[in-house]
Amino acid sequence: MIKDSKKQVRVRIAPSPTGYFHVGTARAALFNYLFAKQNNGVFIFRIEDTDEVRSKKEYEKPILEGLRWLGIEPDEGPDIGGEFGPYRQSERADIYKTYVQKLLDENKAYYCFASKEEVEARREAMLADGQTPVFISPYKDLSKEEALAKVAAGEAHVIRFKMPEGEIKFKDLVRGEISFDGKLIGDFVIARDVDKPLFHLSSVLDDALMKITHAIRGEDLLSNTPRQIALAKAMNFEPPEYGHLPLILDPKGGKLSKRFGATTLEEYKEQGYLPEAMFNFLSLLGWHPKETGSSQNLEKMSREEIIEEFDIARVQKGGAVWSSEKLDWLNNLYIREMDTEELLKLLKKDFIKDDLERLSVQGVPMPSQRSWLKMVELSKERMNKLSDFFAELHFFFKLASYEANDLIWKNSDKERTIENLQSVEQILEGTSPDNFELKVLEEKIMPLAEEKGRGDVLWPLRFALSGQKASPSPFELLDVLGKQESLLRLDLAISNLAASS
Ligand code: GLU
Repeated sequence: MIKDSKKQVRVRIAPSPTGYFHVGTARAALFNYLFAKQNNGVFIFRIEDTDEVRSKKEYEKPILEGLRWLGIEPDEGPDIGGEFGPYRQSERADIYKTYVQKLLDENKAYYCFASKEEVEARREAMLADGQTPVFISPYKDLSKEEALAKVAAGEAHVIRFKMPEGEIKFKDLVRGEISFDGKLIGDFVIARDVDKPLFHLSSVLDDALMKITHAIRGEDLLSNTPRQIALAKAMNFEPPEYGHLPLILDPKGGKLSKRFGATTLEEYKEQGYLPEAMFNFLSLLGWHPKETGSSQNLEKMSREEIIEEFDIARVQKGGAVWSSEKLDWLNNLYIREMDTEELLKLLKKDFIKDDLERLSVQGVPMPSQRSWLKMVELSKERMNKLSDFFAELHFFFKLASYEANDLIWKNSDKERTIENLQSVEQILEGTSPDNFELKVLEEKIMPLAEEKGRGDVLWPLRFALSGQKASPSPFELLDVLGKQESLLRLDLAISNLAASS
């Protein structure tokens, strides 16, 4: 909990809409949301689209949809409203302009006419000299009249902030005391012109005017912080408290990139990761609940437990490694908990539509509702993500062709296998379709298996029904397939064996 309980906690997620919703941004959004929830605070969604070239409107919607999918509903934001809007930087131009002008008037910022080449040459010279490249503009002390005359004459320019030279110290919510030397930062560009603000300026102003109390964001933005604190102070605003979250790393220690795998929330959603699992997994990227001393597994936590337990002070400083195995494991646990009918609906809607269409074109009959539900029940243990469904259970719909010899158990032979399959057929034929259930069938078939050898009976039965070397048990298969289809598959196995050499 924060100390000053009188001050309403206001946090934000401020993505630049330059791509789909990156999991790093989703993690930052989640930590801000958790912090807000814990402190009865407000969670603001703001679009940082000052970069007109890179920002695209089409990327905005997936971000908001992604937040909502995770169960994170912003309290204020574009298309949501709130008293500090607009929440899109492209709609706040007048506000920024006023402040850029004010900084110029107060001599806290100045027009700089140095060309890109000049700036670059100076940078290279300093680097070659072993110094930190800090640009000292020859235009810093130009009189206002001279500067404005050059602007009026159409000389190319930018607007630089006069970065104070002293030490900038702040207490990071995650990393503790941090200090930067203002001298090593130099006068950075805050706008291309009075009405063309750049990222630092708009971001600082938005935080100030939207009354953001805590800016919790990725560590890659840490080097922005001294600039932003200095800029806020120059405009007489109290900067928010900052908290920088550890970078998300791939298992080799590199930055999480496309080469490693999916990096956007949309991709994970499409593969069939559940929002609850993703919420849980992301919350553990850089944070861990308090150890209780017992070996109790603390990793699977409900949304409520996470909100209750989360503590920004327990966020780690070192990189947070993305473990796909852990995500799969968690997702599987959440899949198992799902209501079977709900899961079936979700699968049919988003994950197996194409497969079913393909089968229907091939004239493959669809399972009964009873079989569907049993199949989905079986799939729960087998799916790490919902898109695994068909790969795991395709044989229920359509039996693939197989080698007849694969029906034969280890040292057994063709004749014994045919004989055992025929005995099973007799048992199945003598069972009424209404009674064709796992327990009943198990009781009827097991004595035969005990007598003739488990492998000799159960292997060919299971293989004949699935065409797979690994699959659910033969009784589970019979239960899902039903009497008619099971007998068809056994007939086929027997004739395959009979025809084989
Ligand atoms: N717009 C920045 C980004 O998408 C975030 C800025 C911030 O959180 O302060 O990286």
